[in-house]
Amino acid sequence: QERLRPLIAGNWKMNGTSAALEQIARLKTLLGEAGNIDSDVLVCPPATLLERASQRAQGSALRIGGQDCHANPSGAHTGDVSASMLLDAGASHVIVGHSERRADHGETSETVRAKAAAALAAGLVPIICVGETEAERLAGTANQVVGEQVKFSLPETFGETPIIVAYEPVWAIGTGRTPTIDDIAQMHAHMRQLLVARFGKAGEAALLLYGGSVKPSNAEEILRTPNVNGALVGGASLLADDFFSIIVAA
Ligand code: PEP
Repeated sequence: QERLRPLIAGNWKMNGTSAALEQIARLKTLLGEAGNIDSDVLVCPPATLLERASQRAQGSALRIGGQDCHANPSGAHTGDVSASMLLDAGASHVIVGHSERRADHGETSETVRAKAAAALAAGLVPIICVGETEAERLAGTANQVVGEQVKFSLPETFGETPIIVAYEPVWAIGTGRTPTIDDIAQMHAHMRQLLVARFGKAGEAALLLYGGSVKPSNAEEILRTPNVNGALVGGASLLADDFFSIIVAA
């Protein structure tokens, strides 16, 4: 397989107030000093920081994304944010179907598919998250669970927009534990096969991100695994210097 330009995406989750914008500024400086970074770099701050973060990122290659969007373009959905609102605030991407949303907000793969379709309709690139729980892995059903999530969480068509799927085993998120490299390679090959069967060339070009306790010390090994085309990074994306070490490992 030809090398796909990796995407290194940071997910700040529900962390950060104005002071955290300094991390955006620092990351911009680090990227500027480094010059030739052969990856796309994205930070997804909380919605309250989106607009200021995208202003701070201006003039650099750093892109800004949302962490979730509603499936509808507007309307009576108190507290929710639409895809076009994220775009308007300066986002280029949006994470959908993160396991914390699936668990905390009861999002099903059908919900996630509707959100991804809304993102595409608004002109955002969705990053669609999938991943098995520890019980599912121990029961030997990880392939089947992730296969079904991929099947039902992805819209019918992506048009010209790249397909991005993040494999995030739930038990590896924020725990410091990661699957073995063989297990990551196996799951990513499985997802690639499903995407190629369904989307053809677009499936071959799909970016398959790994997420779950990626940190500077394990990033290089994970990122050179076949069919791993980038990372979705939680905790280690909060500090620009840590995140930058992961970026240079790609
Ligand atoms: C995430 O939540 O997307 C994630 C991968 O978190 P962490 O890197 O902290 O495990």
